[in-house]
Amino acid sequence: MNTTDPEDERTTDPAAGRATASTDGPTTPLTADDRRWLARCVELAATARDAGDDPFGSVLVDGTGAMVADARNTVATDRDVTAHPELKLARLASRQLTPDQRAAATMYTSGEHCPMCAAAHAYAGIGRLVFALSGAQLAEATGQPGWGLTAADLLVRSGRDVEVVGPDPAFHDEVVALHLCG
Ligand SMILES: [Zn+2]
Repeated sequence: MNTTDPEDERTTDPAAGRATASTDGPTTPLTADDRRWLARCVELAATARDAGDDPFGSVLVDGTGAMVADARNTVATDRDVTAHPELKLARLASRQLTPDQRAAATMYTSGEHCPMCAAAHAYAGIGRLVFALSGAQLAEATGQPGWGLTAADLLVRSGRDVEVVGPDPAFHDEVVALHLCG
C-alpha cells in the first residue's frame, strides 16, 4: 500500500514546516479576508446544524483569493462518518487543482481539523490552514474528549510546509454556541 504521496514531496524535514502548535490564539494575525472566509465557514456550520449535522463548515480559496469550493458537515444526512467538510475539500483539491495551485491555496474551517482531515490536508499539499475554533476549545466547551492532537502538530509531522493560523477569538463564542445548541 502506498502511504505517501510521491507526487508532491516538497519538504522532507518535519522541522522545516511552518506549522506550530496553536491552542491559545492565532500565531499569525488574521487578515480581513481571512475573517470574511471564516464568517462564511460559520454560516455553513449553522446550515449543517439546522440540517441535523454537526456544525462544521469549510471553504477552499485559491492563491488569487477566489473561492474554489465550500462544504459543510453531512455525517448525519449522508450516514457517512467521514463526511467532514475539510476531507471533502481536500479530495476536491486533489482532483481539480495542480500541486502548485494546492500549495498556494488556503483551507478555511470553522473548527480545527480532526486527525483524519489534517492528514487529508497534508496529502493534498494545501499550503495554508485557517480555523476559527480549536479542537481544545471545542472539547472544553462541550465536555467531550478531543483527540489531544492539534492539526498543527500533525501537519508538522507530515513534513509539509503548511502555515497554520488559529484559533480566532473573534469567532469563539459564536462557534461554541453552534455546538452547544444542537
Ligand atoms: Zn475531520
